[in-house]
Amino acid sequence: MKCHRDPDELNPIAESLFKIAFLRKDRGVVNLLQWIYERNSCSYCRNGAVEELLTKYGLPAEQAYECRWDCLDLTRKLMRKARRLKRRLGL
Ligand SMILES: [Zn+2]
Repeated sequence: MKCHRDPDELNPIAESLFKIAFLRKDRGVVNLLQWIYERNSCSYCRNGAVEELLTKYGLPAEQAYECRWDCLDLTRKLMRKARRLKRRLGL
């Protein structure tokens, strides 16, 4: 989905897409979550998309690495927690 509008106008759209993705719980929502991650400027929406991808569908390694340096502390903490859990489980 391409959008050439003001990035701040995307947040209400991203929030609605996130609600749909959160409620649907099937792999069909991965593209919605990726769109939120890549296009929306709101770091809280991005954090929600990352958490959904990470816990339900899998987060690509490159994206996981990128999230380690996210501007939002919440996202960085989520990634640290995921890395600790992965190490603990020997994955
Ligand atoms: Zn938002």
